[in-house]
Formats: sequence, structure tokens, C-alpha cells
Amino acid sequence: MSHTPSRQDYDHYMTPNYSPQQVIPVRGEGSRLWDQQGREYIDFAGGIAVNSLGHCHPVLVNALKAQGEKLWHLSNVFTNEPALNLAKALVERTFADKVFLCSSGGEANEAALKLARRWAVDNHGEHKDKIISFYQSFHGRTFFTVSVGGQPKYSQGFGPVPGGILHADYNDLESVRKLVGDDTCAIMVEPMQGEGGIVPGTQEFLQGLRDLCDEHNALLIFDEVQTGVGRSGELYAYKNYGITPDILTSAKSLGGGFPIGAMLAIDSVAKSLVVGTHGSTYGGNALASAVALAAVELIDTPEVLEGVKHRHDLFREHLETINRKHGVFKEIRGMGLLIGAQMSDAYEGRAKDILPLAIEEGLMALIAGPNVLRMAPSLVIPEADIAEGMARLERAIERLVASA
Ligand SMILES: *Cc1c(COP(=O)(O)O)cnc(C)c1O
Repeated sequence: MSHTPSRQDYDHYMTPNYSPQQVIPVRGEGSRLWDQQGREYIDFAGGIAVNSLGHCHPVLVNALKAQGEKLWHLSNVFTNEPALNLAKALVERTFADKVFLCSSGGEANEAALKLARRWAVDNHGEHKDKIISFYQSFHGRTFFTVSVGGQPKYSQGFGPVPGGILHADYNDLESVRKLVGDDTCAIMVEPMQGEGGIVPGTQEFLQGLRDLCDEHNALLIFDEVQTGVGRSGELYAYKNYGITPDILTSAKSLGGGFPIGAMLAIDSVAKSLVVGTHGSTYGGNALASAVALAAVELIDTPEVLEGVKHRHDLFREHLETINRKHGVFKEIRGMGLLIGAQMSDAYEGRAKDILPLAIEEGLMALIAGPNVLRMAPSLVIPEADIAEGMARLERAIERLVASA
């Protein structure tokens, strides 16, 4: 009982599919974290765009405690009040007519892809099975979603991959036109690529995908697992573009740290998901749904969403100031509080070298590929924490520059 877990325990007891940093955070509050030694950190990583309201936000803690004392889980043999309330809230706030609840982003995308295939079989026939997605995209780790994802390193080495999947270049409509046809079942796209390097889709590109889908009776699926639930400055990023998908997937920020995913769809598509076609034991779990409902209701308010846009400007100003002094970035981009700083040519591929230096300076950040420093902090991060975090980031970057 008195054993204090250490980083070595990771190597002893856990599968080696991650390579976690040496420090082990044990407590969080707002945008601050503390490790086993009591050292404090500012959190610009946000659990990879998950801790949408920071750590242990009182509204989420209260929702968790209240539901935790009432009812946790029933299975889908019964429905439950929090799941019904969450589904209603999502339908009322989006284009969608129906919601399927699950426990992660990969699962939400798996549901979206299976639904698209089933809709095509129901309405057009078996031949309409092609799924088009994009190089560098990321859609999850199930075998279907890694195969649709555009990073072969995640799908290769596991034997035969699911068929009928084609990849085009992101933000290049011409490359999609070459693949699209009447056998296209769906186009799956992130409105802004997250793992692929924080690359926003252009208005023309996303509109062009919508038009191609309409022309060829295909479904447009927006993967908003990373961009959703306030992250972009709107509840969902599609609202920034005024382009409406047929299916949208959500997870990460949706639960503010509690595992939950959702697939949203229009009625004419959702109706193919008849009894028995799909399911998930934990999907629509009462505890998860109660926390997610509290998160959605708090985030989808003008105060929080305006605050995200304002904080975006602050992040950009700070990063540009750092860059004027040190010239480490080529481009600063993103939407809302999902921000990427692409390394300049002199620091090509060195984004990951910043992370351990930042940790030593008391800052948690992220990368998106080898060349982009990524930030996905709490949507309500205090401005003082932004300023202090940026001072720490600058010290880390000074050390990177000094070591070059
Ligand atoms: C993180 C992510 C996923 C996968 O979500 P999990 O919860 O890890 O399964 C899917 N799509 C996008 C765009 C993501 O960023």
C-alpha cells in the first residue's frame, strides 16, 4: 500500500506503446498542474484538447459527484436521463437530428464510417462503398479508423487493411475530383487537421467537398473530435465555415476529461442505424453523459466562446513576440484555442525538443508532427496563466536557440 508509483513502473508494468515524459502529475486545478515533487506547471496541453475547462472545474466536479451518488451505468437495455438530456442538448445546438453516444473519438468515427457504409447499402447498393479521406489526417486507432486516417505508420504492420478507402491531398480539391464518383460513399475530413499539424481547411476546399458530396450522393463526415465543443471559438468548427456536414463526430473536449464520444447525424442517414446494427456497452453511460452535458452547457455560451476568440488573439500575439526575438517559427496558425507554430527551416523537425525544456521551465505543451509546436489549453485559461506560460515557453525557446 505504501508504494509510490514511479516512471520506472511504466516500463515494468505497462505495454510499451507510449513514451511518457519523466514527470508524473498528481493534481490539477484550472490551468495548473503539480507533480509528485510538488513542482507546479502551467498547462497549455490540456490533455490533448480534452480538458476543455481545465482541471477539476467545479461545475464538472459537481456534475460528476451529483450523478456519482445517483446512478452510474445501466447498459443500453435501458436508457437514462443524462444521456437523453445530452442528446437533446446536442441536437438543439447543431444541424443534427440524432445522436449516437460512445466513449471515444475513434469509436465515434468507427460508428460514422459504419453508418455511412450501411446508409449506402440501404439507399444505393453495395457498389457505393468508397470512402475518401486525406493524407496526414487522423481519425482514431481502431483498424477501420487508422485505415481511413492518412498516416500509414498507424495502419501498416497489422496485416490486411479494410478495403474501399482512398486518400487525397488536404486543401486540394482537384485531388479529390480525381477520386470522387458515383461509387463514393462518404468523404471524411477534419475541418482543421489536428494531429496532421494544425492545418485549417480553406473555405473553398470544405465548400468544394460539400458540393462534390451533393453532386455524387455521398455523405460529408466532419471529424470534429479535436476541433469540437468550443475549441474553434464556436461550439463546432463547421459553424465558422457555414458548411453543414451530414455526420459529425465529437469527443475530446466533450467530456472535459471524462471519456465520452458522440456521433451526430441527420435523420435520413441516422435511420439506417436500426436495432442491432451497432452498439457500445458504455455508450451513453449516465456518469459520462452527466459530465458532458455540464461541459456543453457551460461552453456553449457567448461568454466562453467569445473568450476563446479573445484568448486566441493573446496566444498569437505572445507567439509572434517570441518569434520576433528568436525566429524559431515559420508560421503561427490555428483556430480558437487550437494553435500551431510551425518551426522555421533552421529548426526543422525540432518541435519535440521544446517539450522537455518547457517541462523544466514549468510548462506543458504539445507537438503535432515533428515540425509543429501545438497548444490546446483550457478554453477558460486565465489571462495571467497565458502570460506566465508564455514567459516559461520563451525561456525554453531561448535554451533551444542556445543549444543550436
Ligand atoms: C484524437 C482524435 C481522434 C481519436 O480520438 P480517441 O478518443 O483517441 O479515440 C479522432 N479524430 C481526431 C481528429 C482526433 O484528434
